[in-house]
Amino acid sequence: MRRHRNVKIVATLGPASSTYEMIRALFEAGADVFRLNMSHGVHEDIRKRHEIIRQVEKDLGRPIGILADLQGPKLRVGVFANGSEELVEGAAFRMDLSSVPGDVHRVNLPHPEIFAALEAGTSLLVNDGKIRLHVNACGKDFADCTVTVGGTISNRKGVNVPDVVLPVAALSEKDRGDLEFACELGVDWLALSFVQRPEDVIEARGLAKGRAAILSKIEKPAAVKAYDAILQVSDGIMVARGDLGVELPVTSVPPIQKRLVRGARAAAKPVIVATQMLESMIESPVPTRAEVSDVATAIYEGADAIMLSAESAAGKYPVEAVRTMNDVALSVEKDPTYRSVIEASRVVRRESIADGIVAAAREIAEATNIKAICCFSQSGTTASLVARERPHVPIIALTPLLSTARRMALTWGAHCVITPPQDRFKGAVLAAIKAARDDGFATEEDQIVVTAGVPFNVKGTTNILRVAPCDERLISRVDPE
Ligand code: ATP
Ligand code: MG
Ligand code: MG
Repeated sequence: MRRHRNVKIVATLGPASSTYEMIRALFEAGADVFRLNMSHGVHEDIRKRHEIIRQVEKDLGRPIGILADLQGPKLRVGVFANGSEELVEGAAFRMDLSSVPGDVHRVNLPHPEIFAALEAGTSLLVNDGKIRLHVNACGKDFADCTVTVGGTISNRKGVNVPDVVLPVAALSEKDRGDLEFACELGVDWLALSFVQRPEDVIEARGLAKGRAAILSKIEKPAAVKAYDAILQVSDGIMVARGDLGVELPVTSVPPIQKRLVRGARAAAKPVIVATQMLESMIESPVPTRAEVSDVATAIYEGADAIMLSAESAAGKYPVEAVRTMNDVALSVEKDPTYRSVIEASRVVRRESIADGIVAAAREIAEATNIKAICCFSQSGTTASLVARERPHVPIIALTPLLSTARRMALTWGAHCVITPPQDRFKGAVLAAIKAARDDGFATEEDQIVVTAGVPFNVKGTTNILRVAPCDERLISRVDPE
């Protein structure tokens, strides 16, 4: 089974997508990576979803990436007796420390530190800023507000206080517990919410101890400022537009998105564009024109992955939402303008031998009738470098490590294949030919480019490039061992 697009699709799982049938249907419709949001649902639910994903992976024989998203110091309201309430403009609404389930007049906000820092006159923004409350009066355990922008408020919706600097640690006690839990389950990526400094990333990396790759969610003004330093210590990036568009003016999100995507691509690290991509599909089986255009823009920009949040986690049409992303990707990627935009934003880095090899692989594939670039990769670094080149032929990433194949599920264009460890270049070429033919990328008459590092199984040694015919008989006759 292969995809016919380069951009990857991340689908968040939730109540609307927790059965085997649904998760399998999402994968078949195009989801490459599943996101488990640690903010919602108990560990047992997350464990079950994780187990189901691994079962789908086994049944379909394709590596699937799993990303656990840590809540971070996100402020959230408690729960409502009725699950949700309608707040109307002009109404009074109170937030307090009482754990009694909320109603239309009040709700729990279990964060004493907010009440300590709040002042009358500030704004509380709920649910990615969709609801706005003006604080009239506050004390150490309450805030009396007026609804200035109404809407539906429901269980555990996020709260932002953009005007107030809150003294909060990057990883809460809950995050540390969730991180350990997720690593023990065997997730491939950990996403860190509300990163502000490179030190936040380094701290999480220390706790993960190599068990999962670290993805930084950029959603704080401080993180936008410190982006280069954060990128350097991260394995991947998420443009987390939900909170970003609340913490900063919403009109600053598009230029920031462009800058973050370019930066990550230049650093050969995967970048996800997230939030509200197909928001109307929570309720509707068809997207709006504007949403289709937003998804298309992220693809034209060269993002590695586009993401669904509530659309797949809690919406009515999860499979349709994935299918929509897939269809937009197919349409954009066959547009000649897409190629020229991607080419124009190519970053030229020639700092290592591997940089030169991957650039040559891409150029050769452009000039001749090559059907795929096959790269052998232990850690996934070489495959990421090939992806940075954004070649016009598919990338087949071969690795003996299942964990690497799963992580690479997030990388632009990478079709990951597990192969036995290689110790001879000839064996590697034969394995690449087999992968390209078995998965439908090439036929006996075609050619592929193979890159590898000799000696094998040493990190960071990509130093060979070979144009190989896809007919094994030709290989056996002429190739050196
Ligand atoms: P984050 O800031 O981490 O993105 P979020 O609250 O925005 O947190 P998303 O994963 O983006 O959460 O999903 C958007 C919405 O979908 C949530 O606010 C929630 O209403 C719903 N949702 C997502 N996952 C779940 C889940 N596992 N259980 C219940 N509701 C969920
Ligand atoms: Mg969100
Ligand atoms: Mg967020």
